[in-house]
Amino acid sequence: MFIRSGEWVIISSIKNKFKRYAKSLRLRLFIILLLVGVIPINLLKYGILNNYEKQAVSQRADTIRSQCLMISVQLCDSDYMHGTESELIESELKQLGSIYNGRVVIVNDHFRIIRDTYGIDEDKVIVAQEVLECFLGTDSDNYNRTDEFLEVTVPVRDDVTREMQGVMIISVPTTDIREGRDALSSTVLTLQTVLTLAVLAVAFYAARLLVKPFGKVTASLEEMKGSFLEEDISIPDYTETELLSEAYNRMLERMKVQEDSRQEFVSNVSHELKTPLTSMKVLADSLVDQGKQGEVPNELYKEFMTDIAEEIDRENKIITDLLSLVKMDKRSSDVNIKETNINDLIELILKRLRPIAAKNNIDLVLESFKPILAEVDETKLTLALSNLVENGIKYNKENGWVHVSLNVDNNFFYVKVEDSGIGIPEEAQEHIFERFYRADKSHSREIGGTGLGLAITRSAVLMHHGAIRVYSQEGDGTTFTVRIPLRYVP
Ligand code: ADP
Repeated sequence: MFIRSGEWVIISSIKNKFKRYAKSLRLRLFIILLLVGVIPINLLKYGILNNYEKQAVSQRADTIRSQCLMISVQLCDSDYMHGTESELIESELKQLGSIYNGRVVIVNDHFRIIRDTYGIDEDKVIVAQEVLECFLGTDSDNYNRTDEFLEVTVPVRDDVTREMQGVMIISVPTTDIREGRDALSSTVLTLQTVLTLAVLAVAFYAARLLVKPFGKVTASLEEMKGSFLEEDISIPDYTETELLSEAYNRMLERMKVQEDSRQEFVSNVSHELKTPLTSMKVLADSLVDQGKQGEVPNELYKEFMTDIAEEIDRENKIITDLLSLVKMDKRSSDVNIKETNINDLIELILKRLRPIAAKNNIDLVLESFKPILAEVDETKLTLALSNLVENGIKYNKENGWVHVSLNVDNNFFYVKVEDSGIGIPEEAQEHIFERFYRADKSHSREIGGTGLGLAITRSAVLMHHGAIRVYSQEGDGTTFTVRIPLRYVP
């Protein structure tokens, strides 16, 4: 069959709806409630019908037995069991047979049939189990449900001597009992149908009612538009929905914090990027203005152009740092982990920074005790540690020093960057890892700081599942300690 694309969309949407319904809590609840209702109804039906049948058969057997016992007394009294004929007994046997439309068979103590109201088996020997059991003192009723008959075996015993003289077997059809059961069955079926329908309706509505609060949660979430960060949800119908709403509200709180920090970051970025541009614009404008008034002196021209070039460098550095930060913030799939010699890595960092240190008259010393091999992203870790050492140099005093030491234990390696510099005020220490934060704004800017260095360092350390701490006393130097696991766990 050829299916057009429109039809195919409809079919697949029906399929999806069906799949959803098959997986739903509502369907599960409906099935459970239905089973809880329908199983007892069926058991009840089975119980009622069986009980009726059992009662009817046992009542029928009891009546027949008591009638037979009366006749059995007469059989003994009249010596019928030993061949004496009796009109009275004959008529009673016939009457018994005709009451129940059944057959009466009398067996003597030699297991010979001496009377059969159907006249079929007279004079034959019978060795049926019920007869033998009856002689041994156990009366039995044999109800055959399939062939619809009841067979009652009653002993013929002398009233005085208690001696067994024979056995009476009465077989009667039980068609009326089956008919009674059928009639009752149809009544019960009606009842069953009504109850099943009622259970079905109750299960359907109860399942719908029970899952309603979950629908409310979905609806509340769907209804949220634009300012969803401001809207809390509250569905206290169930403990589960209450917990769900609370978890959602907590997530909103976290998102709000993130959103605030994102907005702050964007405004900080714009501000930082604008500052060098504004300076350049002022410098360029004043050159143009001076040009209008006459020839610009060469000296002034050079000075302004140098300032403009510095501002361009600054803008460039901010952009480079921002790009580094964005890279750090990306997921761990961008991490390029390799087994790296950490001693070599740090030595290379110091080698690169030595000229800057020398320019500032800073003594740069490395202490490392053991060779260290660790799984790290070389580029990112180099950037992180370079920032720390560079800060140690930048925020130092005349003829100061920066000590870098390297240590290791079974699980981690440790880098300590200590300086004899200006230190960080206590209230600023908790903020220095924030983006664009500078403890001493004018000084930092003067020496070309962007306020992004420590944020980059922290991101790189966290990406390695490490930790970074700062210890500092204003005017008395600063120590940064970094701890990184030797084995990288993604
Ligand atoms: P910046 O580019 O301004 O150096 P950082 O993120 O690297 O930005 O540092 C944030 C601020 O922390 C700096 O502006 C500075 O005030 C302070 N700081 C960082 N390292 C040191 C240090 N070793 N000694 C003193 N102050 C420091």
